[in-house]
Amino acid sequence: MSSRFDVRYGEEIADKMEAVVMTAPEILEIQSVPVPEPDIGEVLVKVECTTICGTDIEIIKGGHLPNWPPQLPAILGHEWAGRIVAMGPMTEGFGLEMGDAVAGTSHAGCGACRMCLIGRYNLCYNYGNTVTGHRQYGHITQGSYAEYVTNNIRALHKMPEGMSFEHGSAVDPAGCGLWTAKRAGVNPGDTVVILGSGPIGVFAYESAKAMGAGRVIVVGGGRRLEILEEQGAEVVSYRDGGVPERIDEMTDGRKANVVLETAGTTDSFRWSVDCGGKGARVAITGIPENIPDMAWKRVVLEEMDIFGVRANPNCGDEVLALIHSGRLKVDPYITHRFPLREYQEAHDAFVARKDGALLVNLTPGA
Ligand SMILES: [Zn+2]
Ligand SMILES: [Zn+2]
Repeated sequence: MSSRFDVRYGEEIADKMEAVVMTAPEILEIQSVPVPEPDIGEVLVKVECTTICGTDIEIIKGGHLPNWPPQLPAILGHEWAGRIVAMGPMTEGFGLEMGDAVAGTSHAGCGACRMCLIGRYNLCYNYGNTVTGHRQYGHITQGSYAEYVTNNIRALHKMPEGMSFEHGSAVDPAGCGLWTAKRAGVNPGDTVVILGSGPIGVFAYESAKAMGAGRVIVVGGGRRLEILEEQGAEVVSYRDGGVPERIDEMTDGRKANVVLETAGTTDSFRWSVDCGGKGARVAITGIPENIPDMAWKRVVLEEMDIFGVRANPNCGDEVLALIHSGRLKVDPYITHRFPLREYQEAHDAFVARKDGALLVNLTPGA
């Protein structure tokens, strides 16, 4: 393969690869497409495992057009792990080598703007301006639903020796869970309420525990909530109604010190404040279509803090360490495995929450 840049290949790479291509809202096709070439600061990675994210489902519906993706056709996917098979220009000397197992995350900031320089690269001022090097994989630039993906080394995390690619593929969503817990500042002994029992809720639960929460109560539903209960969570089914009242009962009226909202529904948005007590810290990851009235008076008079959460900045290495040490569990939440070419079936299982679908993993080239 020839390149406009000086790219070092570790093995012979075919010109074409199999990929899941979104051609229109709700239309996905398995296509043979050119293998991408690494740009400055990028490596080419062979994807070994990639995981479906709830955001992908919304993107596939067309709900984020024309931002994510900015044009069609597009290749989505941003939760993945694989092995470096080619090194692009200006990638030497950063601790990543040919053949390394790496986990991907979606945001690569420009690296030079004020937000990037203070570590908030998920808020890069050059968002979407790819000339500056900014990328958001699987959103505005090619993602991991393919045999190969190019990725800036800024958005890659070297996996510890012996870690499985399934664990590596959990780094992006687990990082979102950890960042949610970090934004709200979970302190040892805190009572934490998590709204939502999907993948981010699961990893917010695991992260809150790893950060020393005293009690963690998860509000969710169905088989997903049962899986969390099996992992030791106190659970409240939203289907039984009266969620804030039940949190009151369970906490002797004190409510939670920390609320982590991960469901993105109108109810969960409102409950994020309703379930928090005096001085509570509330982190919100979801944006519902209809923003409800909130108990703003309580927010003021009870000195509650509310934090927005976007993705998972600076959490990749931390979650790798937590997963590797066994303090953040992944395996109980892997519910489905498919070859990448059966993407539609995997997508449908995730959407239908078949058997409590949580982490639905795909293997390219299988
Ligand atoms: Zn995701
Ligand atoms: Zn930037």
